[in-house]
Amino acid sequence: EKQLSNSDLHDTVKVFCRLRPLQDECELPSIKLVSPTTLTLSSECKTKQIRKGCNYVFRHVFTSYSGQREVFEHVALPLLEDLITGKNGLLFTYGVTGSGKTYTLTGDQTSPGIMPSCINTLFNSVGDRQAQKYLIKSDRMNGFEMQSENEALEERFQETKSGKRLRTIKKTVADKIMYSNDGTRLKNINDECIYSIFVSYTEIYNNAVYDLLDESNSKILQAKIIREDWQKNMYVNGVEEVEVKSAAEAFELFYMGQKRKRMAHTLLNAESSRSHSIFNIRVVQLIQNVQGDIPSETMIKVGQLSLVDLAGSERCNRTNNTGIRLKEASSINNSLMTLRTCLEVLRENQTTGSTKVIPYRDSRLTLLFKNYFEGEGQVRMIVCINPSEQDCEENLQVLKFAEITQ
Ligand code: ADP
Ligand code: MG
Repeated sequence: EKQLSNSDLHDTVKVFCRLRPLQDECELPSIKLVSPTTLTLSSECKTKQIRKGCNYVFRHVFTSYSGQREVFEHVALPLLEDLITGKNGLLFTYGVTGSGKTYTLTGDQTSPGIMPSCINTLFNSVGDRQAQKYLIKSDRMNGFEMQSENEALEERFQETKSGKRLRTIKKTVADKIMYSNDGTRLKNINDECIYSIFVSYTEIYNNAVYDLLDESNSKILQAKIIREDWQKNMYVNGVEEVEVKSAAEAFELFYMGQKRKRMAHTLLNAESSRSHSIFNIRVVQLIQNVQGDIPSETMIKVGQLSLVDLAGSERCNRTNNTGIRLKEASSINNSLMTLRTCLEVLRENQTTGSTKVIPYRDSRLTLLFKNYFEGEGQVRMIVCINPSEQDCEENLQVLKFAEITQ
């Protein structure tokens, strides 16, 4: 009988924790580190539920001394190495509002988070190996099509004539983005390959999917449908997938998406912490046998890395939530609960070898990541925690969430 080793069991889903620094240095933290992988509630935690002395184990716990770089290298770099060999990856940050989810994923100009580090590393590594002579058209239903550059230009020209907008990146704006780049390169670059990199940016609000890169204002609030593509990957139908030729272009799109997000939230009267945002990086890899100038045989591999900033996991206090706020809260509860169940069943299937049905269809959030729950691609979760005392009650819920996936 096959004995599953510990590493087999933990391979698909790995859960990390990150403690953010306390705002008030004099405050005593309500969460304590027992070992580099283990947390416990300290006596400062005045929660009614008696769970003190209980240990919560993670792959690794990043403390307030851990910088952005360390988190990126531990959690995201292995996913990037996978990505350029055509494998999928999913990374999400989970936690209450203010716990450091966005800081961890996006960061700021002085401390770039996971997303900018991924983009920089990717372009450091394959930027000079991008498709030049041939342009790849990505069509989710039918796969990929290659065109020579002239054909492609013609096609783009016709697209604009027929009213569709030509996607150009405004260089002046892109130049302003100065996320620092430490020059990290990936190891697994295949020298026989050329690469094309696409990004898309969506958000899920009240269980509806919106495209943050769609520039047409009339469509800003048009919810999108989730479909399955030719490779049986789930995707958002009609979503803009923009090919980016540099890190600056990718950042520019990210900022554009954030701007649209603020706009949409104003229109919807939505609270920004109440939606899940999903930034996708797709790497299309062409392995070519070239005869003269014309590729004779081409193999295509596609990998996607999804970086998900989840909505705040705080439970709704029903007395304070009415109307829109109540709807937001219940749809978050529902999607995070489904996520929890999916991870739980996935873990059970992994550990016991059972084949229980995973209820990923119960929410759009989990449906989008169906393939991961079916065991394709790596999942990384970073549980973000503010160890401050006032978050104690909520932190206990967060720790319990993380516990089920262990
Ligand atoms: P969330 O997205 O979970 O609501 P944020 O990422 O916006 O939380 O973090 C809230 C605040 O705490 C921000 O001002 C952010 O800069 C700060 N912060 C969060 N985590 C850290 C950290 N590890 N180091 C320094 N500042 C942090
Ligand atoms: Mg946030």
